Amino acid sequence: MRIVSLASGSSGNAIVIDAGGTRVLVDCGIGPRTLARRLDDARIAPESVSAVVVTHEHVDHCRGLAAALRRWPWLVLASAGTIRGLDASVLPRATAVKGAVDIGGITIRLVAVAHDANEPTAVAVADRHTGMRAGIAHDLGEPSTALVDSFRGVNLLCIEANHDTGMLRGGPYPAHLKARIAGATGHLSNDQAAAFIAAVGTRDLRAVLLLHLSEVNNTPLAACEATRRGVHRRARLASLDAAVRRAPSAPIGAAAAQLALAI
Ligand SMILES: [Zn+2]
Ligand SMILES: [Zn+2]
Repeated sequence: MRIVSLASGSSGNAIVIDAGGTRVLVDCGIGPRTLARRLDDARIAPESVSAVVVTHEHVDHCRGLAAALRRWPWLVLASAGTIRGLDASVLPRATAVKGAVDIGGITIRLVAVAHDANEPTAVAVADRHTGMRAGIAHDLGEPSTALVDSFRGVNLLCIEANHDTGMLRGGPYPAHLKARIAGATGHLSNDQAAAFIAAVGTRDLRAVLLLHLSEVNNTPLAACEATRRGVHRRARLASLDAAVRRAPSAPIGAAAAQLALAI
């Protein structure tokens, strides 16, 4: 299994999972031309993607969805509440998922998260052939026990690290926006991401990718520094990186799979 972030942050989010020939997108917050170019950078043809999982209906997660579905025959999978918030043109291709669903060789489980949308979810992924597991959590205000239980022991972890608490507090945003971001249904801080990684990480953790970094209230360096100690205390050799806003990230997972084979 390998995972590549194609875009990350409030300007648009998209992640692709590639496991044993099954390709699934998580969110489609960028236009189809940019998406196709970045998939090509990841050596993935858009036609080979089976489905797109939409975590919630906020525009930075589904801005490009309707246009993408006019070009490619993807299924759309999401919670019933998220589907209710999507563009009407998307609905004939959408299936409401409650719990788990199998797509090709992978099993996808949607897990409820706390965020100010209809019925937002995080995504737990398992490759049924290799046994590799991944967890992807975009926007969330604070992790629930159910999310920690679903992600515990994953090999690959993609988790929001939206803001540095001090930068947000001292930054330029108006008070109501600061309160929304820092609130229980807002966005995860670097310190919350660090605690989450410590809670779910085990020796099986191979790679952590930090998502949805704020351009104003965070930096990749601050996010990585806040989370590094927790990652390496749990898994000494795990890689740690922050997703790039407007370009593909380095893939996570492929090298880890090779490493596992070599041992
Ligand atoms: Zn959101
Ligand atoms: Zn978002």
